[in-house]
Amino acid sequence: MKYLYLLGYPLGHSISPAMQNAALRACGIRATRYLKAPTPPEKLQEMVKVLRGENCLGANVTVPHKQTILPQLDELSELAREIGAVNTILKQGGKLIGDNTDAYGFLQALRVRRINPAGARVSILGAGGAAAAAAYALAQADVGEIILLNRTLTRSIELADRLNQKFPQLALAINDWDALAQSQLIINATSVGMSPRVDESPAPKKFIFPKHAVVFDLVYNPPATKFLRDAKRDGARVIGGLEMLIYQGARAFELWTGARAPIRVMRNAATDALQEIQKPAASE
Ligand code: NAP
Repeated sequence: MKYLYLLGYPLGHSISPAMQNAALRACGIRATRYLKAPTPPEKLQEMVKVLRGENCLGANVTVPHKQTILPQLDELSELAREIGAVNTILKQGGKLIGDNTDAYGFLQALRVRRINPAGARVSILGAGGAAAAAAYALAQADVGEIILLNRTLTRSIELADRLNQKFPQLALAINDWDALAQSQLIINATSVGMSPRVDESPAPKKFIFPKHAVVFDLVYNPPATKFLRDAKRDGARVIGGLEMLIYQGARAFELWTGARAPIRVMRNAATDALQEIQKPAASE
């Protein structure tokens, strides 16, 4: 038996195992399992040794290791290096290669809804790994302007500096909260609003979302976050994080197995698993 692992901590809420194992079964890859590997920070080094073992085919990496794992890997893809975060690890010739499929997943979630961000004014709330992946994807898709809005200013400045180096022509602003109301695309790439803190939103208090805007929350649990509920109330078009999760997972699956990802199977498994983890919260 070979294994793919999901490294993160805590991992109680993850629906990736259900989605990836359904994909493995659908592709007839019976001798491989995708397992949760809850890894507190002090156990990360030990877990990286497990990844180096022969029966490991690769891994996904999630909060809080997406950035801290970088120095423990042998190589990074160009994208992972530029984004500064790894969510997928590949094994090549015994080496651990860090990659990032979040940027692809993010853009694909827009594409399937026929939303083309080219030329748009985009506000991104957050400056962590997910925000960086979204910003790189948007910069590559010829977005008009990116406004980075983050609680910790130094982190927005650091991300803006990296974006500037790679995309010198890109129009960038930092912590210009007034620009939020004039944005065509508004993205929540913070963890605010995630279950169980479902009544929190990263938007400023009493903010009215522009009617013309597309509002995308990368959080997928709950599917309708307060951020999205408020945006919908104000007449904006809303997108939840599930579709991005599916496409980042599909890309990782293809990189690990070389098989074409069965998107419909993955979407059904992810949707069922998400409904399942909603149940206890709903009955409380
Ligand atoms: P991260 O690197 O830890 O970044 C977290 C971000 O959230 C930072 O910008 C942080 O701001 C901000 N934040 C946290 N608590 C906050 C609070 N109370 N008030 C304001 N800002 C706060 O995490 P990440 O990997 O970027 O992930 C961010 C979110 O995206 C998570 O919810 C994750 O589940 C989601 N995500 C979804 C997908 C998907 O496929 N749908 C993929 C990747 C990530 P500071 O810098 O000030 O700490």
